[in-house]
Amino acid sequence: MIIDDRHYDVAIVGSGAAGATLAAELAAAGHAVLLLERGGAMALADQNVADVDLFRRQRYHPGESWFGPDGDPFAPQMVYALGGNTKIWGGVLERMREREFTGLALQDGPSPDWGLRYGDLAPWYEKAEALYRVHGRCGIDPTEPPRSGDFPHAPRPIEPFLEELRLGLERRAVRPYPLPLTWSTSAEDPSGDAERFGLESAATAPSYTLRCGARVRALHVNPTGTEVKGVEARIDGRNWLFTAHQVVLAAGAVNSAVILLRSRSNPHPNGLANGSDQVGRNLMRPQLTSILQLAASPNSGRYPRSLGVNDYYWGDKNVDFPLGAIQSGGGVLQDPLFAESPPVLSLVTRLLPDLALEQLARRSVCWWAMSAVLPDPENRLTVRGDRIDIRYVPNCLEAHDRLVYRWLDTIQAVEADPLTQVVRSAPIYPRGEAPLAVMGYACGTCRMGTDPASSVVDLEGRSHEVANLSIADASLLPGCPAVGPGLTVIANALRIAERLKAELA
Ligand SMILES: Cc1cc2nc3c(=O)[nH]c(=O)nc-3n(C[C@H](O)[C@H](O)[C@H](O)COP(=O)(O)OP(=O)(O)OC[C@H]3O[C@@H](n4cnc5c(N)ncnc54)[C@H](O)[C@@H]3O)c2cc1C
Repeated sequence: MIIDDRHYDVAIVGSGAAGATLAAELAAAGHAVLLLERGGAMALADQNVADVDLFRRQRYHPGESWFGPDGDPFAPQMVYALGGNTKIWGGVLERMREREFTGLALQDGPSPDWGLRYGDLAPWYEKAEALYRVHGRCGIDPTEPPRSGDFPHAPRPIEPFLEELRLGLERRAVRPYPLPLTWSTSAEDPSGDAERFGLESAATAPSYTLRCGARVRALHVNPTGTEVKGVEARIDGRNWLFTAHQVVLAAGAVNSAVILLRSRSNPHPNGLANGSDQVGRNLMRPQLTSILQLAASPNSGRYPRSLGVNDYYWGDKNVDFPLGAIQSGGGVLQDPLFAESPPVLSLVTRLLPDLALEQLARRSVCWWAMSAVLPDPENRLTVRGDRIDIRYVPNCLEAHDRLVYRWLDTIQAVEADPLTQVVRSAPIYPRGEAPLAVMGYACGTCRMGTDPASSVVDLEGRSHEVANLSIADASLLPGCPAVGPGLTVIANALRIAERLKAELA
């Protein structure tokens, strides 16, 4: 074991939405920050994939297998790179709604009360939107939570056919709004991510150290188990030990839990900070279904997500439970999520020549239906040596089905409108649910709460059991809203950074 002879103020594990944001904040405040990231820089060509190759190869799978409920291995869609999953995300950054913090009743039961209130996160949401240059417009989305002003930047222009579709939806009394998107000023890499808005600014601070290719395997504690004394990482085939005053896990909802479960010791026989037995439990991923509609004429197939519809977010006629959100998908040739669950394209793509596949994709308009799910302690990940097992049974299925069928009715009504020329009615609307392998939206495996018996960290991300250990990523979210978790993860990381700055001062 090689022991790094520097003692850092903070060691952060993982450079995704949470880790990069936290590192930038702490490094800017002058703290000696060590960032350990198992991946390296992602090639620009991989970041802006815009061709049929997306369907041909299993891109964005790190070459490891996890094991599903049936015991069969599967290749998770997961980015291990600087910026983590934000390198391929849709970049839609939305705030959770007020009610989602207070035990909202979903189809299968109440979602957990977060302990926090929307007002606790609102200033951090505002800061997160500014940091990630979110482009949007307030006052259109009927479910929008209160905010002190408009978005930092006006919405991005959308494709002309989507603009026509927007008008068509409005004629059917639907209220589409421009999806809030993170967008950079770089022509080469325009979609915003945690590398651009976190790591690049951290790198300007003299007190910041980045170690790429550093896969953290375990955290080591003092004999009484009250303090992390060392962070063990595998770098270039050798084991290293790093020490820091504070240690923050930000390796994502699956890997932060894996690190804790692998860090067993006498004082922590079930895994570090796992006296509650909640580490790895309550795994959630929003239900996601892609729906394809036939475009009347070819589009570029290459554009970002653009329109949102939250008209059924809180319910629908005859139903008083929330259904979820609709988003127009990015261009089919540019959406890694879609490539993962291509409804009609799945088999066909392997048989079609490139040109035909390109034509098929360009004739498609993709929609995403997204629904919230409840935490279930039996939905969990466990580890056996190097093996990761995932047990997952989705819940609130009827709500999601209703959302999908409601949207099919809506798009058919739009097609029947003679003024809407950009889409055609079709005998089928191919659709497909994102399979278990789509794990990039995962959350909940180290839930925060006030009760140490039922949560892993407190409401400020501090372990209930280990004095200098915090968790800052999607694993601490107690619930899984229908909007993407990205902005909430970033806002929460900013909040935790503020607490750490005060503690390190
Ligand atoms: C295709 C796709 C589209 C998405 N679109 C959206 C969207 O439009 N809006 C939205 O809000 N959310 C979206 N998401 C979800 C969003 O990306 C995640 O919620 C967010 O990135 C979670 O942040 P995180 O910090 O918890 O983890 P991540 O961003 O996943 O970062 C974890 C980091 O930890 C590193 N790591 C893991 N294990 C170790 C280890 N042992 N040692 C060292 N480093 C380690 C990883 O390499 C990675 O860099 C999308 C996800 C995907 C995959």
